[in-house]
Amino acid sequence: MNYLFDPAPQPTVAVEGSDKRIPVRRIFCVGRNYAAHAREMGKDPDRDPPFFFTKPADAVVETGEIVAYPPETENFHYEAELVAVIGKGGRNISEENSLSHVWGYAVGNDLTRRDLQLKAREQGRPWDWGKAFDRSAVIGPVHAAANVGHLDKGAIRLTVNGETKQDADLADLIWSVPEIISILSHSMELQPGDLIMTGTPAGVGPLISGDTCVVTIEGLGAIETKIGPPA
Ligand code: MN
Repeated sequence: MNYLFDPAPQPTVAVEGSDKRIPVRRIFCVGRNYAAHAREMGKDPDRDPPFFFTKPADAVVETGEIVAYPPETENFHYEAELVAVIGKGGRNISEENSLSHVWGYAVGNDLTRRDLQLKAREQGRPWDWGKAFDRSAVIGPVHAAANVGHLDKGAIRLTVNGETKQDADLADLIWSVPEIISILSHSMELQPGDLIMTGTPAGVGPLISGDTCVVTIEGLGAIETKIGPPA
């Protein structure tokens, strides 16, 4: 291939217990998937079909990295999330077959410029500037489902500087991982390396430079992110 510019490096995420890496294809995110979080965002939790937004694959950040406080926000938020990693692609996947498409699971932090997201929401504009900015997806090492099983319950917690801010259970997801995969695959053909951030529980709040944010999911360990000064 005769490229005019060097192609960007392939974004990847780590694999627990292996030096192999998972190439990231797309990052799908589910909006408002815990009832208490929907309420804190001023919306009624219900079983309306889930909605999705995306982040670019190269927004991924590893555990232990410093994330510079992003530009154009005064309300930069954390969101603890379970991440499901697609290992086998497909379209029109049934709920019953969904889990056979999941390679594994990781702990995630859906970093959000909340002020830009809410302004876009009010104005009926896309969420990209609030959600899909540089270094906005912290993703921990992916644990193979073959080792940890499929996670449908277990504690999900987030602390800032050691203080608990989010404390919930994966069983509280409004839309389960099999349901999300089935619904998504009727709209997009899923591919290996697609990541799905499954939504955050109640308790979202701000991060400032100097903060240390830790997200823990039972069975998947913890990820840590320090917030640095603006770049
Ligand atoms: Mn989220």
